[in-house]
Amino acid sequence: MGLHMPDSKTYTGGCHCGQVRFECTTDMAMVTACNCSICTKKGLHFTFLAPQSFQLRAGEDNLREYLFNKHAIRHQLCLDCGVDVFARGKKPDGTEVVALNVACIDGIDLAKLTMTPIDGRNR
Ligand SMILES: [Zn+2]
Repeated sequence: MGLHMPDSKTYTGGCHCGQVRFECTTDMAMVTACNCSICTKKGLHFTFLAPQSFQLRAGEDNLREYLFNKHAIRHQLCLDCGVDVFARGKKPDGTEVVALNVACIDGIDLAKLTMTPIDGRNR
């Protein structure tokens, strides 16, 4: 609602091979540039969505779950191309959240996004 809040838009996207496809609605107001181990090694940039703003359109059976640390975040990888498309997790208050890998949005240009530094390495 603030002056600088970008508008929400509906995007489509998917994994690299195209078997996993989604549609989502987001304002992309917060995109992470996180220094934790997995975001660093995989070059992941997430934006967080309410589960109802994210719909898996194809490839539900083509996902592999990757868990590490305390298993708080369930990374969803395409079985064939290995891309981390999204993750499911819970906020500290317990509400479900989808962390979408913004690099999976169709036509995205990462260099044009405003990123928010996150000190995940020290959390
Ligand atoms: Zn794939």
